[in-house]
Amino acid sequence: MKQVSERLTALSPSETLAMSQKSNELKAQGIDVINLSVGEPDFFTPDFIKKAAGKAIDDNFSFYAPAAGFLSLRNAIVDKLKRENRLDYTPDRIVCSNGAKQAVCNALLAVINPGDEVIVPAPYWVSYVEMVKLAEGRNVIVPADIERDFKITPAQLEAAITPRTKAFILCSPSNPTGSVYSKEELRGLADVLSRHPNIIVLSDEVYEHINYVGQHESIAQFDEVRERTVIINGVSKAYAMTGWRLGWMAAPKWIADACGKLQGQYTSSPSNIAQKAAEAAYLGPQDCIETMRRAFERRRDLIIGLVSDIPGLKVRRPQGAFYLFPDCSYYTGKSFRGKTIADAAELAMYLLEEGHVAAVGGTAFGAPGCIRFSYAASEEKLREAMRRVGEALAALE
Ligand code: PMP
Ligand code: GLU
Repeated sequence: MKQVSERLTALSPSETLAMSQKSNELKAQGIDVINLSVGEPDFFTPDFIKKAAGKAIDDNFSFYAPAAGFLSLRNAIVDKLKRENRLDYTPDRIVCSNGAKQAVCNALLAVINPGDEVIVPAPYWVSYVEMVKLAEGRNVIVPADIERDFKITPAQLEAAITPRTKAFILCSPSNPTGSVYSKEELRGLADVLSRHPNIIVLSDEVYEHINYVGQHESIAQFDEVRERTVIINGVSKAYAMTGWRLGWMAAPKWIADACGKLQGQYTSSPSNIAQKAAEAAYLGPQDCIETMRRAFERRRDLIIGLVSDIPGLKVRRPQGAFYLFPDCSYYTGKSFRGKTIADAAELAMYLLEEGHVAAVGGTAFGAPGCIRFSYAASEEKLREAMRRVGEALAALE
């Protein structure tokens, strides 16, 4: 009998990756699609990082590494946390994984028992809720709408907590909204958590460097939560290294130990070559980060202007990451050639098929009235994409 397990039957495929794949399929058919679906920098990995990877190959880094990653890389991450975040860690609290994605999943598998509740503010990154399901936990979704800048309040967090709450996932700067929690806002959330000492905080900081309002603030800076916060980060976004698959967690030692054990049985360490490249990234010159950040900022300003000119799309000004998440509910319920577009996922499909622009509907992010455009694309592509989106939306009735 060809029957996959219940665990995997319940799991939804990644919508971000699915839309990107669909866009590539259309491209392979010769259709000129502009892909603003998957979120990844369109820059090449800086040369000094690529050279370090080449050197690792030449130096025969071809043997198994410790499951949590090379000590030299974990030390480089400890230095980074000290230098950039003013946080003190030891290398035995760092676990390197196949992307930040695996680090999030490891952390959830390490702490969630069946039925445990995980508080997830919406809009959320697509994979959180699926990973919680994989760990047999229960998602408790706390919605934040565009009027509140897509950020939850301390009162909302407090109201969502029950005796079964095991973890709280925070993503700032946020995918998909681009919102950034200020230090004061983080302090408000930390105050609530101080009254609930058993809740683990998963702080996803992969967009740390793509911030347009100043320096990055981590919730781990607050004493009340520091010893139970798992920081998630990696090199994908900061150094344009999405395909290298190298992320990490900085965690309480008991969680790091559990995740090291898990990787020891499950994946072993991430690739040695990616590890040595990441080590070079953290130890080398950091100016590439600022160059890319500035480019993203220019594109953000451009796309806000372009989208604001499209009637019916409601936008706010994201403060970080490289996503624009306009409210498109004006268009859901409208139809094209007699076919009604029910939600943002269907609207994204329509824009792909009719406008040849790939975006991701907000449904997969827990926000069915919004749509996500990744603006990690050239200014020329952004202009043409928004021209097409405007034209396709105008054809709806
Ligand atoms: N967290 C968030 C919020 C993301 O947007 C991504 C990128 N998909 C990840 C984690 C995972 O990044 P990676 O696995 O490429 O390090
Ligand atoms: N962060 C990206 C996105 O959300 C990568 C895709 C993924 O890992 O799901 O589009």
